[in-house]
Amino acid sequence: MKLYNTLTRQEEEVKPSADGEIKVYSCGPTVYSRQHIGNYRAYINWDIFHRSLLYLGLKVKRVVNITDVGHLTSDDDWGADKMEKGAKLAGKSPNEIADHFIRTYLEDLSALNVLAPDASKVDPGMDLAKLSEHGWTRATEYIDTKIELNKMIESNGYTYETDQALYFDVSKYPDYTKLSGQKLSENIVGARDEVNQDPQKRNPADFVIWMKRTGPYANHLLHWDSPWGDGFPGWHLECSAMGWKELGESISVHTGGIEHIGTHHTNEIAQNFGAHQKEIVQMWLHNEHLLTIEGDKLAKSKGNAPTLPELLEHGFSPMDFRYLTASINYRMPVKFSLEALEGAKNARMNLIQRLQALSVESSGGGEVIMQFKDRFTAALGENLNMSEAFAVLSEVVKSQEDPQDVIATVLDFDRVLGLDLESSIRVEIPEEVRDLLAEREEARSAKDFGRADKLRVAIEELGYMVSDTAQGQKVSRRAA
Ligand code: AMP
Ligand code: ZN
Repeated sequence: MKLYNTLTRQEEEVKPSADGEIKVYSCGPTVYSRQHIGNYRAYINWDIFHRSLLYLGLKVKRVVNITDVGHLTSDDDWGADKMEKGAKLAGKSPNEIADHFIRTYLEDLSALNVLAPDASKVDPGMDLAKLSEHGWTRATEYIDTKIELNKMIESNGYTYETDQALYFDVSKYPDYTKLSGQKLSENIVGARDEVNQDPQKRNPADFVIWMKRTGPYANHLLHWDSPWGDGFPGWHLECSAMGWKELGESISVHTGGIEHIGTHHTNEIAQNFGAHQKEIVQMWLHNEHLLTIEGDKLAKSKGNAPTLPELLEHGFSPMDFRYLTASINYRMPVKFSLEALEGAKNARMNLIQRLQALSVESSGGGEVIMQFKDRFTAALGENLNMSEAFAVLSEVVKSQEDPQDVIATVLDFDRVLGLDLESSIRVEIPEEVRDLLAEREEARSAKDFGRADKLRVAIEELGYMVSDTAQGQKVSRRAA
């Protein structure tokens, strides 16, 4: 499978580590508010990636972080901690806020059929103490690892300390800007006035790896003891620390959004080098954003980003949103509108209706059609060419192949697409509907068409469609 590596600016074959596993680290949510559909675009894209690796028969170990401390409102080390700000607004503790929004995150993932990092189905009611068993790493649970990593960075000579913080000294790492390819001066978000609040900071690009509970953070609620005093870890540190702890010193792929290239991932690479004296991530993958029609990034801070429940209020299914985002390559910016979503909904309905029509005649047990599977697999291998993958899907459905084989092929593809097609197309007729069908059959034999029509309506009300064919009545599920 070839993927576009931001670091080398070319497509490369994804490689497992020495133990044969593809190790994947994905930047996850900051749980201070409900995640919005922009966030879910990213999670669906990386879920497709994860499912594709599994579909190709590769062994995967994946970690997704949950940020519940240290993500400041400005990526450049100053501003309020997003968790504390969210907690204050709600009159709750940071931990309560984190638990609450982890729960809504799990609910949304489950609705969108996004797999857990360990590839299991997400149980939205799961015990939050068991998140780590499924591959999620919660930042507050890895404070010791972060301190350990900082000690390594410090003993290798990449840090300096001020009264306010322990900094990574960017001047010690000449490759600092290699991920973004920018000049150092362009790379610095920290050039804004509000940022240079620490008079002892040497270079605006230096970044905090441990913030002391002093100055603007004297009352920070979340804090731990460390060799640099009471305080809390820098945000960028968490991914370096948790990735290393859970995946080791050879990480095949690290995913995140394009906004992470200039600062968050640039800093991660620097920290990794500072600690391990080598590159530990082979490939950096970045998803483009979900945008407004005007081309702005959907973002919580801009107030332009609906949540999933807000979308559903417009009568959409979570699968409509999944269809929309799954069918577009992760490196394509996507402009979101309800019209675009409507288009995805119609396409999905069409697909389901065609499949339902086929499944009426099918009793299951078909075989995957290799000619289509090969093309589908090749499309995934081309840096997740999803428009080609969906084109193959559409061809299979319209083909003249045996309906059972078509269904089998589509369900095979759905292991990657995750559109939950199986439950949409399986026609399992409940007892109540069977009885009505039998009655309707009698009415039709007796040429009582008025009654037959009434029974059709009753059947439809139960969610099934009946059509009259030369072979008798045929039933399919009404599209959801
Ligand atoms: P956050 O909760 O802000 O830390 O963001 C979680 C993830 O969502 C990050 O990996 C971001 O790159 C991603 N993300 C945020 N906004 C968007 C967007 N509009 N489109 C795509 N991904 C996004
Ligand atoms: Zn991260």
